Amino acid sequence: MHDDLITIARFESGMEAHEARIELDSRDIECVIAGETATDSVLPGGLGAGSVELLVRASDVARAVEVLRHTPAGRDLDPDLGTGMDEDVSPWFLATPEQLEAKVREWGDLAGDRLFIDHLTSYSGDHVYALTLSDFDVPREQKHAHYFAQPHAHEPGTTAGMMDVIEQLVTGKNLRGEPTSLDVDQVLAQTLLTFNPIGNPQGRAAAPVLCWDGADYTNDELWCWMRGEDPAMAGKMWQRLDLWDTREVTTPDPIGIVYEQIDEFRYVEPNRSHLSSYFKLFFQMDGMYAYECWLDLHQTEFVNSDRNCMMLLPIEGLATGDILATDRAWGQAICNAWSAAGYRPAPQPEHLGYTGTQANYFRRTWGPLHQRMNIVSTEVKNNAADAPAAFQLDAQGVAITRSIERLLG
Ligand SMILES: [Zn+2]
Repeated sequence: MHDDLITIARFESGMEAHEARIELDSRDIECVIAGETATDSVLPGGLGAGSVELLVRASDVARAVEVLRHTPAGRDLDPDLGTGMDEDVSPWFLATPEQLEAKVREWGDLAGDRLFIDHLTSYSGDHVYALTLSDFDVPREQKHAHYFAQPHAHEPGTTAGMMDVIEQLVTGKNLRGEPTSLDVDQVLAQTLLTFNPIGNPQGRAAAPVLCWDGADYTNDELWCWMRGEDPAMAGKMWQRLDLWDTREVTTPDPIGIVYEQIDEFRYVEPNRSHLSSYFKLFFQMDGMYAYECWLDLHQTEFVNSDRNCMMLLPIEGLATGDILATDRAWGQAICNAWSAAGYRPAPQPEHLGYTGTQANYFRRTWGPLHQRMNIVSTEVKNNAADAPAAFQLDAQGVAITRSIERLLG
């Protein structure tokens, strides 16, 4: 077996594991059973779940789970794998505008003068929030100011990661009730942290799932939700444009959730046009706090790759000199933190690889910013059985936490 093995089920006895294996063998899905000997020979029966593990290749997880969920082994499958049969993640995977609104109210009550809540109102009537945490008794010039944002409605793990870190900074615990690893008082005394957890609430609210865990949609279907289905080609996603006008193009129906409507006729992809709420809010907040660094959070499907996360530097040439060197060191620190957490990152940060039209969008919208401040982006695996909700949240959380720690003296 050449790619990584993932534990998909835990059984109380080797017998149950073998029954599951027979099911998988009959469909040519290779698997490995681990932990069997100790269980059966020393303590037959009576052991808690988790004694015998069934592992398959990462690339076979979705198929194996689909096979086993219809057999007696279904009840022993790892609930984090996501297959429509998993636990309800909505108490801690917070990614919808409603979930954000509820938390903003709660945090506003809990955090007192350590949280400033700014927002602008999008054309759709949604609030796009900038949540700023700091010890405001400490003057700005004695602190590092860091911006965190996400532009893409189909990448909810980015929001969930930000929500989890904000919860830690407000309550000292994450959304699953575990204590934070951050020294919150030190963080707030030495930094000013602004989060825009949902850059395009209109798009996010139109998403068909809370978390893309690979159970309900293929990648092609996800991409048709993202940009809309091409009216000229069924089953294929539409164009990727920075700004478009319904009077000038034949549009998908429904319109892809990646786009934000900015007036009666026009739509933008948020991170490719300064007319988006995502960019307008940044410039508004930057006018107040003059950020030194911006972590932009993204997800991608890692098709034909055994990686599940990577760090992106600006398109080659946009950041130079000391700024690029710092971008690179910062990205490397996140890659290392991901490796330490057991994820499978690309070993080094890489330049965003766009050419042609997409590169031109980025040069125009991001070029001046890259010459002034440090900006890097995460990419965490989306829409796969081996990228469950907890992984998506935690991988973004590790990147955010490492970015904050980088600034502490
Ligand atoms: Zn993205």
